Amino acid sequence: MIRIENLYKRFGRNEVLKGIDLQIESPGIYAVLGPNGSGKTTLIKSILGMVIPDKGEIFFKGNDISKSPDYRNDIDYLPQIANFPANLTVKEIFSMIKDLRGGQASDQELMAAFGLSPFMDKRLNTLSGGTKQKVNIVLSLMFNSKLIILDEPTTGLDPVALIRLKELLLQEKAAGKTILITTHIMQFVEEMADEIVFLLEGKIHFRGSVNGLKERTHTSNFEKAIAQTLTHHYA
Ligand code: ADP
Repeated sequence: MIRIENLYKRFGRNEVLKGIDLQIESPGIYAVLGPNGSGKTTLIKSILGMVIPDKGEIFFKGNDISKSPDYRNDIDYLPQIANFPANLTVKEIFSMIKDLRGGQASDQELMAAFGLSPFMDKRLNTLSGGTKQKVNIVLSLMFNSKLIILDEPTTGLDPVALIRLKELLLQEKAAGKTILITTHIMQFVEEMADEIVFLLEGKIHFRGSVNGLKERTHTSNFEKAIAQTLTHHYA
């Protein structure tokens, strides 16, 4: 589904991605991990065509994404910071995004899963951070795309919403979707991720399962395995 070859990106003197090769073929949940500033969002935005790489290629379903932006309609995306017009109501934002995207959107079940019905006529700027995040999650899952990219979906979610999110992601995975996630919650990764893509110093430092990383670092505790992987980074 995604093939990334020799991807480089720098911002001024800051070389963020230094030769990323990544291929994701099978459906499943992939966690993109790495310390702050390691380039997770830059990598995700490169896949979405929102960041233009300095060098390298990205293929989506075998096609070079730099040739045409149409592939974006096949990707659902939850940005880390969503900037929707704050004076719109939840209902208005749903209908606006549906109009913009076109195609079939199935939002009713998702809205129910996150208990959003009472908020439909409320303006976005009056919602709590967690409720806004629920709205963003529904917006990013309702178009039934094959590839779902979620940048920090767990931010601000209460325990019930977190459980709902996990259930929904497992449903999506069972339906054959490919899901790319960044999150700071390692318990979420341990529970949910089929594979980890660990970015460090501009490169993919580790690609494999949670258990694979534990084995490599000789620890049965996932947080410690991550910390151990980072030790030399902070040294
Ligand atoms: P992560 O998501 O892993 O925290 P980012 O991809 O957001 O990392 O950022 C990687 C590095 O690139 C950071 O040092 C960040 O400051 C820098 N960066 C990201 N986007 C820009 C930009 N548009 N202009 C300048 N620097 C940027």
